[in-house]
Amino acid sequence: GSMMEKVLQRRSWRMRNMQGAWQESPEGKKMLDFRKSLPAYKEKERLLSAIARNQVVVISGETGCGKTTQLPQYILESEIESGRGAFCSIICTQPRRISAMAVSERVSTERGEPLGESVGYKVRLEGMKGKNTHLLFCTSGILLRRLLSDRNLNGITHVFVDEIHERGMNEDFLLIVLKDLLPRRRDLRLILMSATLNAELFSKFFGGAPTIHIPGFTYPVRAHFLEDVLEITGYKMTSFNQIDDYGQDKLWKTQRQLLPRKKKNQITALVEDALTKSSFENYSSKVRDSLSCWSPDCIGFNLLEAVLCHICRKERPGAVLVFMTGWEDISCLRDQLKAHPLLGDPNRILLLTCHGSMATSEQKLIFEKAPHNIRKIVLATNMAEASITINDIVFVVDCGKAKETTYDALNNTPCLLPSWISKASARQRRGRAGRVQPGECYHLYPRCVYEAFAEYQLPELLRTPLNSLCLQIKSLQLGTIGDFLSAALQPPEPLAVQNAVGFLKMIGALDEKENLTNLGEFLAMLPVDPKLGKMLIMGAIFRCFDPILTIVAGLSVRDPFLLPQDKKDLAGTAKSRFSAKDYSDHMALVRAYEGWKDAEREGSAYEYCWRNFLSAQTLKAIHSLRKQFNFILKEAGLLDFADASTNNSLSHNQSLVRAIICSGLFPGIASVVHRETSMSFKTMDDGQVLLYANSVNARYQTIPYPWLVFGEKVKVNTVFIRDSTGVSDSALILFGGSLSPGVSAGHLKMLDGYIDFFMDPSLADCYWNVKEEMNKLLHK
Ligand code: ADP
Ligand code: MG
Repeated sequence: GSMMEKVLQRRSWRMRNMQGAWQESPEGKKMLDFRKSLPAYKEKERLLSAIARNQVVVISGETGCGKTTQLPQYILESEIESGRGAFCSIICTQPRRISAMAVSERVSTERGEPLGESVGYKVRLEGMKGKNTHLLFCTSGILLRRLLSDRNLNGITHVFVDEIHERGMNEDFLLIVLKDLLPRRRDLRLILMSATLNAELFSKFFGGAPTIHIPGFTYPVRAHFLEDVLEITGYKMTSFNQIDDYGQDKLWKTQRQLLPRKKKNQITALVEDALTKSSFENYSSKVRDSLSCWSPDCIGFNLLEAVLCHICRKERPGAVLVFMTGWEDISCLRDQLKAHPLLGDPNRILLLTCHGSMATSEQKLIFEKAPHNIRKIVLATNMAEASITINDIVFVVDCGKAKETTYDALNNTPCLLPSWISKASARQRRGRAGRVQPGECYHLYPRCVYEAFAEYQLPELLRTPLNSLCLQIKSLQLGTIGDFLSAALQPPEPLAVQNAVGFLKMIGALDEKENLTNLGEFLAMLPVDPKLGKMLIMGAIFRCFDPILTIVAGLSVRDPFLLPQDKKDLAGTAKSRFSAKDYSDHMALVRAYEGWKDAEREGSAYEYCWRNFLSAQTLKAIHSLRKQFNFILKEAGLLDFADASTNNSLSHNQSLVRAIICSGLFPGIASVVHRETSMSFKTMDDGQVLLYANSVNARYQTIPYPWLVFGEKVKVNTVFIRDSTGVSDSALILFGGSLSPGVSAGHLKMLDGYIDFFMDPSLADCYWNVKEEMNKLLHK
């Protein structure tokens, strides 16, 4: 102990000297002055003493007041000043990986150090920290994972849970776990940070923990709703039926095509009414009913373009922040704007994007001031709402939607669709325009639609499937899933919990008594959805790892097959060329990826992607994710190190690969029902589903497989299945299910003699060959 003590003591002194030197330097002084100008600084002493005197403190303050970058740093600095810098270990969680990275980078800059010195970060599959790191920014998922192996968070002195107002699932989950931990670790300090004032809820949850508000200052921001925007810009929207001419937005068009004609007319009338009448109040209740159908996207990119033009031509200088729903929208709009004579002129406009998967180099540009006489326009997802602050924004354009998962417990179907934001989010977005001077906010929806928004967004815990979460509850040994979740801030519906537990049993991650199986333990360790984790493990065990690796990487990034609105047919044909009668979107992905790798080697990747309607960016992401998953499975001892080719000795066996896809995606399965002239598809719960237009299977008249397995159902009025693969009865019997020895091995024993008889023989062989290994996986 005392040896270690001495080392730490010496290190602490060194930390103090180094900070002292930095703060004396001209740059350091300038930085310190900036930090002192932040609203959080005035509260510094009050905050430090509250944290010293209480185990839990809840802090609220407007975005940009200095919560994330300053508060953890105050703790670090006060420890350093008292000569104990090396003794503290501070963790600050972020809901998104990109903010963890951006913030840690910023804090190191403020401290005049390279990243990974006293300040570091850790996110899924990536990190930058060293032995001198005492302040670590990480995603909430990383902290949860750490709790798996270190239930008491030994050595950690302070935990900050940031952005709790967002009510993300991981944050809500962390709060239950930490509440449970606090009595065991009386010296641990927990600080919750929120951008909105609803701190009471959290304070109550922790038995009346003190709350501190950091008063901020923002300039007034004028709000313009759609009716004003149309007037200001002179944009003509005389009839709702012209919509098709306005935008090229895919989502809106599909939504519209799916609407029954009657409903379409009804909404048309409503919105026209709303836009022409001077009083909007009467319409809000009616509009609320049709909210899910009336999309701001219908106004399309042309209105967005008109608003941006208006700002650039007529308004005072200042950067513009545009809130959109996702990467797809953002890149479409960017391409459209690039072709515009004014907005696409790099001598006048600096056009940037801000979303979850952007490169670090691009990230930095966002925070930089644009050169003189050049206007910065940032197209962003709702990431820029609270966790990232861009200083010089004067104008905000808000499309009113955000992509979020919603979960329909009744149908057990998750949907990832742009949906309307809450009033709190709209206010938050508007507020981003008033940081440096009075601002303007253009909301691209009528005021009556705003009035119909919900006050706050529903917590994620109540709107997503709980599969991964329940797995983690078990692997953290937190007791019965149901009991544990009923202790949440706002507990989820019992039906949602039941669905998740049922699912985990079905895939063999939990046994009948709700205990974790070995498979379940592996799955809890892998940083992917349990389904995909299972597919990976099975691919490794069954020695057809490579194609499965590509599929899993593809399913956890996004579809590399592009579907431009105006070239749907061509794109569909291009994709089907990869299918070669496989009846599988997943195999098409594998072929496309393989082809891309060949093309890269030959230096023709660009033409290859262009010709085949593939996204090079997505393929690159898949490529790097493959490497990372490969590494993790090796670490877990599931892959052969010595002879890598054994991991793929069966990759050529198509029916095996199909079966492994089935083992991962089960129970996402639909039976193929052939009629005279058509086909239809029925899921396990007897629901009718349609195939996504871009699926290779949508191009066939008949499918020579009795089943299709699929990764996800998406609800867009009708339920669609996205990517699917045809599989045989044998694949389903042998691989679709819990694989639990209690159920299928006994079952299969019975079939032992017959198995070669009525099953696909090559498949049965594979199965028997690894049965031993699989039993090991499933038995505790
Ligand atoms: P909060 O967490 O309260 O929303 P932050 O601590 O993230 O606020 O940011 C405080 C201030 O620090 C911001 O208002 C901004 O001026 C500045 N800041 C934050 N990140 C950066 C960055 N990457 N580059 C430049 N300035 C930044
Ligand atoms: Mg923050």
